[in-house]
Amino acid sequence: MTNAMPKLQYPISNTQSPAALAEEIYRRLQDAYGAPDWRPTYAPMDELVLTFLSQNTSDLNSGRAFQALKARYPAWQDALDAPVAELAETIRSGGLAQRKAPRIQAALRRIQTERGEFAIGFLADLPTDEALRWLTSFDGIGHKTASIVLLFCFGKPAFPVDTHVGRVTRRLGLTGSKDTEEKIKGIWERLVPPEWYYPLHLNLIRHGREVCHARGPECGGCVLNQVCRYEEKT
Ligand code: SF4
Repeated sequence: MTNAMPKLQYPISNTQSPAALAEEIYRRLQDAYGAPDWRPTYAPMDELVLTFLSQNTSDLNSGRAFQALKARYPAWQDALDAPVAELAETIRSGGLAQRKAPRIQAALRRIQTERGEFAIGFLADLPTDEALRWLTSFDGIGHKTASIVLLFCFGKPAFPVDTHVGRVTRRLGLTGSKDTEEKIKGIWERLVPPEWYYPLHLNLIRHGREVCHARGPECGGCVLNQVCRYEEKT
């Protein structure tokens, strides 16, 4: 990343509006990291199954588990009909396979029963709140992964907040230090326009991974230093 400090666009003070601060954050991250390309999108059903596999593991491990699943079960019906122990063995590289395998099969079963096919394209026509409620009614899908499906696959205005986005947002002072990631999701959704959700989400994750680490944030070279209200800034 670049260490160049962009010029302040807004005066920073205790009375600065949260919307102005959010815009400053967005622009500084865009200056530092660029506008992320729209990532290669998975088909909605693939993205949904990936959300189960991605829990409590790295993208690398969940990606491996997903590839193994698709290689062994080319059709969703195959994955649904497989003995659950066999499915768990297939996705073992993604971790927590004993928990994830039955959840994936339960989701496939419910979608087939409700929709008559393995497809969730109907979400595109639902209001975002309703689509979010439907997705989070599955055991194993929270607001973060539901928002990823809605934003990445359908371009719906849902802001995914993972651990990195949550930590950076709290430190910046846009939210309380103990606010939940679900509350932070609502804050971003109120403060920035929907067309910023995708690039801002990805740039906040990148910033959290590369600079604003959970332990030992590198505040000295941080492009958000001038607008950050973290009391323990290094
Ligand atoms: S100044 Fe420090 S705490 Fe604030 S965003 Fe940057 S790295 Fe994180």
